[in-house]
Amino acid sequence: MDILDQSIHELHQRLKSKEISSVETARAMLARIESVEPQIGSFITVTPEQALADAEAADRRIAAGQMDVLTGIPLALKDIFLTEGIRTTCGSRILDNFVPPYSATSWEKLKERGVVLLGKLNQDEFAMGSSNESSAYGTVRNPWDTDRIPGGSSGGSAAAVAARQATATLGTDTGGSIRQPASHCGCVGLKPTYGRVSRYGVIAYASSLDQVGPLTRDVTDSAIMLGALAGHDPKDSTSVNTPVPDYSAALTGTIKGLRIGLPREYFIEGLDPDVHKAMDAAIESYRRLGAEFVDISLPHTDYAVATYYLIATAEASSNLARYDGVRFGHRAEGAAGLLDMYTKSRSEGFGAEVKRRIMLGTYALSSGYYDAYYVKAQKVRTLIMQDFICAFEAVDVILTPVAPTPAFKIGEKVADPLQMYLSDIFTIPVNLAGTCAMSIPAGISASGLPIGLQLIGKPFGEETILRAAHAFEQATEWHTRKAVI
Ligand code: GLN
Repeated sequence: MDILDQSIHELHQRLKSKEISSVETARAMLARIESVEPQIGSFITVTPEQALADAEAADRRIAAGQMDVLTGIPLALKDIFLTEGIRTTCGSRILDNFVPPYSATSWEKLKERGVVLLGKLNQDEFAMGSSNESSAYGTVRNPWDTDRIPGGSSGGSAAAVAARQATATLGTDTGGSIRQPASHCGCVGLKPTYGRVSRYGVIAYASSLDQVGPLTRDVTDSAIMLGALAGHDPKDSTSVNTPVPDYSAALTGTIKGLRIGLPREYFIEGLDPDVHKAMDAAIESYRRLGAEFVDISLPHTDYAVATYYLIATAEASSNLARYDGVRFGHRAEGAAGLLDMYTKSRSEGFGAEVKRRIMLGTYALSSGYYDAYYVKAQKVRTLIMQDFICAFEAVDVILTPVAPTPAFKIGEKVADPLQMYLSDIFTIPVNLAGTCAMSIPAGISASGLPIGLQLIGKPFGEETILRAAHAFEQATEWHTRKAVI
């Protein structure tokens, strides 16, 4: 048994039977992080002292018979989650010295269960990107091929799971940032419905789109993590007060009669042939499992990327106004007055992609252009939402690719932001519609790279997509393939 390869539920059994301790587990993980970090770069901050203290506390809980499935499990968090007393950069130079005075609710919830914190993970700056190349802390490398990107913006979160540097991780998804890196690194990524998980204490990018979710080794772990994270939080006015179902109980293994929609707009020319093949094979597997397929249309798909880049940048330009060098974060030296200090601090602190988005967003919100861009985008967003509402009258789940191609090469799209933006074409509509979706391993390309399958569910339909994902996992072996590193 290699501790590093274990899922949460497997590790739980070993911890429960006292075959290993949480401290031994944490030490093994920390040693692994140290040995592969020079090749991967998943972490911005490793927290060995915190990890060992958490593990000792977990071992005491286990000895006292007070453990649950997450007690003693080593996790790591995208550096967008506030962690009290532990540096939180959001991948930006502007927050290089920021130590938050409180923690995100999602992290608090996991802490209460006795998890072990290994550290904070690399990401695109302020979660803006699809490749992790916009981080101020270096590019993360894909553990399956270190010349390639791990995806973004939660690239460190996906790479850490794939490189076996953590048992599971947390990410955030505004336009695909959990699902696309999960797909590129061969792990399971879940973006819950908007409102399902609290975003309190998660650094805001685009507030009407951001959601928190887990990246895990398998679907069983995804259900465990969602169960721990979901629920109403009075500190987040967008979190919804509906009961949290038992997600693990939803994994029944049977999907007979499940109606799966195939949106014709997603199986387009330009889709990588290996991705197409993997989707065809997955459809075949689902047919054998007793699912019924329905051809559907999501007619406004073509407008999703443009709509997203107006709404997300508009919201980002407003959210990022708080980084002014006054209250926290980087402050420029030698400024001649207040305005100069703002300008210098922001010029020095933000990277090129973040600046581009602040400018785009400010433009879209400016008087004279507001109606033509921002208001128009909101109207198109409603049409995209209605596409999904209509589709879900005929189907229970929608099946699509996660990304048009497997992981691309580092540097390949840096010079062409539009090409980079288009890599989220299949994930962005889900955030605009506010519903849930997940990415699960569903194939390997001819060049040995993982390919993900996206299952989109109805709002608050996480149980259904988890059940469908689990049934597929039982019938295939893609989730057992590992990056050789
Ligand atoms: N790649 C998309 C963007 O750059 C999505 C990022 C995300 O989901 N945080 O905005």
